[in-house]
Amino acid sequence: MSEKRTILVIEDEHAISNFICRALSASDYKPLAAASGKEGLSLFFSHGPDLVLLDLGLPDMDGVEIIKKIRGWSNLPIIVVSARSEDSDKVAALDAGADDYLTKPFSVEELLARVRVALRRVRYEDELRDRFYEEERLRQEALRRIRYDEALREQEYARRCGPDHRAPYAAAPEGGYPLYASRRDDRFDRAPALGRDGGAAVVQVREADLPQTAA
Ligand code: CA
Repeated sequence: MSEKRTILVIEDEHAISNFICRALSASDYKPLAAASGKEGLSLFFSHGPDLVLLDLGLPDMDGVEIIKKIRGWSNLPIIVVSARSEDSDKVAALDAGADDYLTKPFSVEELLARVRVALRRVRYEDELRDRFYEEERLRQEALRRIRYDEALREQEYARRCGPDHRAPYAAAPEGGYPLYASRRDDRFDRAPALGRDGGAAVVQVREADLPQTAA
């Protein structure tokens, strides 16, 4: 159903590399073997694996450097598989961005269990991201709808009020002057003769109160 997960194995000891790759193949993963740091980085960039199993002691560069380089590009899980068992080595690798650390010798079962856990973490993060994007999409859609409705209301208002957006809002009060609205929720000015100091009232415009035909 789903495509096989690709796992990059960067390990210079052929016996160990073969052992790991066989175990991964048997568990339906697609292993990619690299015998040096350079080759490993090259395969990382060309194949975009789902996970990296990394030996720290490589002939051409230190594994920690590889972790740092990969972390500059990707958040994929990196599991260190190393003979170095000092705490300082583990701390350096984890600080550089490794997700997990497995000390040689290790069992196939343990290796596969760590791989499963790391891939599960990625799947969970992918699901969270997908959900986030879906919610964001729905939010944008709702916003678009609201803006569209607003635009329609504006249009309708303009249609009723005429091109200059000024139309008598209501009949002149007794002995007074007509009220004008310049925009839907603007203040209402008295007619010019009365002047602005004639006591402009703040009135909430309701659509029902707008003139029914264009001025
Ligand atoms: Ca090595």
